[in-house]
Amino acid sequence: METRPEMTCIPLANPKNLKVCCELCSKPAFVFCEKCRVTYYCDTEHQRVDWLGIHEKICQMLIPLRTPIPFISGSEKEREYRNQQQVLRQKQLIDVSSNAGQKLLFEGKYEYAIPAAMQTLKFTMEVYGSASIELASPYLMLGESCIGLSRLLQADEYLHQAQWIILKNSFCDNSIKSRMHRNFGMLFATQKKHTEALHHFAQDIYYSSLAFGTDNIRTSGGYFHMANVFYQQNKRETAYSLYGQLTTMWNDTLFKMVEQRSVEAASLPQKKLIDNSIEDSCFLDEVQGAEAVKILHTILELHENQKPPFLKELTKNLFTLAMLYTILENFVKAKEFLSKALSTAKLYSSEEKRLHWFESIYLMLENMTK
Ligand SMILES: [Zn+2]
Ligand SMILES: [Zn+2]
Repeated sequence: METRPEMTCIPLANPKNLKVCCELCSKPAFVFCEKCRVTYYCDTEHQRVDWLGIHEKICQMLIPLRTPIPFISGSEKEREYRNQQQVLRQKQLIDVSSNAGQKLLFEGKYEYAIPAAMQTLKFTMEVYGSASIELASPYLMLGESCIGLSRLLQADEYLHQAQWIILKNSFCDNSIKSRMHRNFGMLFATQKKHTEALHHFAQDIYYSSLAFGTDNIRTSGGYFHMANVFYQQNKRETAYSLYGQLTTMWNDTLFKMVEQRSVEAASLPQKKLIDNSIEDSCFLDEVQGAEAVKILHTILELHENQKPPFLKELTKNLFTLAMLYTILENFVKAKEFLSKALSTAKLYSSEEKRLHWFESIYLMLENMTK
């Protein structure tokens, strides 16, 4: 779905006197964003890509950051306060850009993920410096975008930048190491270097398990890519077994979430007193949601092409998608997958009991949002 950007740009009246560069490619700029008036572009195409990738979300946030502070004879305390506010704004911008970029990557919108990743990189450098471990994440995002766009040489460069930063910093989060290996794995998988790819995905799963636990959905990405390599290698049995484990992983997690959501919906105060984590644990953030959609729909497509279908696995997959869309509060899609799951469950009975329980919860949650 292509949304028309609500952007306006006007040509710079006097570009020769203004030393401004394009936000995306750093070439001399000839147009600027009329909404913030602090962001410049070489042409309208680069403005369009930036707008759809990230600028729409941060346009107004950039104004205070890019408007020069006039000379004010404030006290040292006041200057310090202003600086703190600027850093807070920059950090907020890093969060917004980074989340937007991650989400676009899972949605396969690599062209638009690049401006989001570049913005994250720029502000991360400003806040943390050019050798900080925080830079690994935006470099990995840029690498992944380039893999998606088949710019493999550029991807390799970005990934090695990330690797260099990770090696130089002794305090590096296992989750970042896991992401680095996932990206290298994806690069090798694209080049059909299956052995190298599998080695990196195994490392990804190892570090991810250390960071989040073996059964955590955050570890599922590594298993997913590994399964895809086995599938490419025509090792279908191994691939389907991994896809099955992945579906179970998501099914269990989402089942717990739906269960907790139903408790919350029925608002049993005593349960809330016991478990304070209820609210946090029954929501997926935007990035996790996008990852789940990608993984579960890929698996669904494989099952639908399988003749004859593996009814047990197909039912579980449809059921998991129904729960996913319930948690994401997309009740139209949830209903679609629920009715598909119910009809395949009639042919294969193992999930029927849980499905009927879910159906009643689903109806209650759907009604509550009306
Ligand atoms: Zn440009
Ligand atoms: Zn703007």
